[in-house]
Amino acid sequence: MMIPSQDAVIVGGGLTGSRAALAIAQRYPHLRLALISKVHPIRSHSVAAQGGMAAALGHLDATDHWLDHAFDTVKGSDYLADQNAVAILTQQAPQTVHELEKLGVLFSRDEEGRIAQRPFGGHSHPRACYAADKTGHAILHELVANLLVQPNVTLLAEWYVLRLIYEDGEVKGVVAYCLETGTVAAIPSKAVLLATGGYGRVFGTTSNDYASTGDGLSLVAREGLPLQDMEFVQFHPTGLYPAGVLISEAVRGEGAYLLNDRGERFMAHYAASRDRMELAPRDITSRNIALEVAAGRGIGGGSYVHLDVRHLGREQILQKIPFAREEGLRLAGVDCMEAPLPVRPTAHYSMGGIPTDPDCRVLDRHSQPVPGLYAAGECACLSVHGANRLGANSLLECAVFGQRAGETMGREVGDRPIPSVAIPAYQEQATTAIAHLLQQSGTLRSAVLHREVQEITTAACGIFREEAGLRAGGQQLAIAQERFNQIFVDDKGSCFNTELVRVWQLQSVLTVARAIAASALWRQESRGAHCRTDYPQRNDRDFLQHTLVFFEDFASGADPQTTGRTVDLSLQAVDRPRFTPQERKY
Ligand SMILES: Cc1cc2nc3c(=O)[nH]c(=O)nc-3n(C[C@H](O)[C@H](O)[C@H](O)COP(=O)(O)OP(=O)(O)OC[C@H]3O[C@@H](n4cnc5c(N)ncnc54)[C@H](O)[C@@H]3O)c2cc1C
Repeated sequence: MMIPSQDAVIVGGGLTGSRAALAIAQRYPHLRLALISKVHPIRSHSVAAQGGMAAALGHLDATDHWLDHAFDTVKGSDYLADQNAVAILTQQAPQTVHELEKLGVLFSRDEEGRIAQRPFGGHSHPRACYAADKTGHAILHELVANLLVQPNVTLLAEWYVLRLIYEDGEVKGVVAYCLETGTVAAIPSKAVLLATGGYGRVFGTTSNDYASTGDGLSLVAREGLPLQDMEFVQFHPTGLYPAGVLISEAVRGEGAYLLNDRGERFMAHYAASRDRMELAPRDITSRNIALEVAAGRGIGGGSYVHLDVRHLGREQILQKIPFAREEGLRLAGVDCMEAPLPVRPTAHYSMGGIPTDPDCRVLDRHSQPVPGLYAAGECACLSVHGANRLGANSLLECAVFGQRAGETMGREVGDRPIPSVAIPAYQEQATTAIAHLLQQSGTLRSAVLHREVQEITTAACGIFREEAGLRAGGQQLAIAQERFNQIFVDDKGSCFNTELVRVWQLQSVLTVARAIAASALWRQESRGAHCRTDYPQRNDRDFLQHTLVFFEDFASGADPQTTGRTVDLSLQAVDRPRFTPQERKY
């Protein structure tokens, strides 16, 4: 299929991709832009975001300031965040919220009619702006509605990006597969933005949607480019048991209690959370739940604890957290007005990702920008979250840096010619690879292998990690990679062949899982979300550094099923001009 050359291609229609596209469409209306998304943009995981977006507006507490927000973010990151990027994030936050409001986003209001704000874990002031507990829904719908009326944007919805066109050290476009027709298009572009979201589906229990499989990270890794800080995976404390879907932190923001089997608010038992109780950051809260369960104090001795909101009263529950109540009723059969909700930690957010500079340019292993390639949002690692993200900071990152990525691309594409790309050769290579996969004779179903990978990753790289488990996990994942050529695809069709897409997504999941295991093995300390039982202390002397992981023998054009076997690591300094590391307590 023929898609014309573009000035910019954006991969991903979530909050980041939509915000970036809108920035380009509005500020650079002469540029031709395609937004490609494997699901319709409105179905991107951003739509599920619930609790809020942080900004020091000072509405509920006039003493709040962006520097407080910056400090909270750096402390929350266990001092691994790059502080200049954090300064951009927090300083731009108020303006970003106001701009979204001008685009039509209906934030909840306080009694004086201003944008309402609520407390959130790890934030020292109440600064999460929200639309009840459906914040992502409110924001994404407005962005996409604004985008659809832009004349210079082509929307390729339900197209799957298979690979980057990366030649002579430059990115020159993408190769994508149309789900509806089963055809392939090589699309030359002066610039490509990856806004492909997270990778929760590496784990079996996750709050993420089915499409969060780390494709963008895998696209970059297969070109031999690095991934940064992959050992840092956030487990959200309150996944509804047993489904794993999220009960928003807004529920604790509004005052919910976490209770063990004895009915105790157990957060008081742990030094790191004694002061802020349920509003300690997520890494600490998740570990405390896991420790309660391990000590036999889960409910009925089982693997979950209780989240109790009954004391908030019916009116507060219905007004502030209606979606959490709906979820409890629908997915656990529990009405939180009558009984506590069963919860346990669930894989939620990826702090690691594609390394970028503060203008969203993707960096190679020598920290040099890769011409033509940009990344932002959850798939990127700026790094503003370091070892642990604070709640409400991700929607903010997507909006601030989505816009920034769009503006950088708009500025920079002017200097680049439309790349010359051997379109037929790329299309033929992809079509042949698909035919090969469909003809492959094996007995292994991709869903079975995916489940195995999830079990390996959960055992080796879950909330608690240690050397022997990580080594074994890494080896098992390498073996899982070898078994890829035994996969059998039942559906041979070309119209909405979702089974084929699941195989590609599994390839992404495997790449990401191996990167997590390798980075987690290297980091012999406990920092933020990365907790090594064999190295329980933070060690600033040796490990206050970013990890870069890359697959040495992934070469451009090589078959990803048979290459990428060795994983290598290098390190990069943390940018920390303002706040010096201290002990982290809440
Ligand atoms: C349940 C839940 C609640 C959350 N609540 C909050 C909150 O209250 N506050 C907060 O700050 N954060 C929250 N987060 C985190 C936040 O929502 C996400 O980090 C953020 O929305 C990610 O946005 P994104 O644009 O980077 O990616 P996404 O919204 O995940 O979008 C990814 C896009 O990439 C596309 N894509 C991926 N791979 C391909 C491919 N191969 N080809 C084509 N397209 C592709 C997808 O189609 C999709 O459009 C929550 C997350 C979850 C899961």
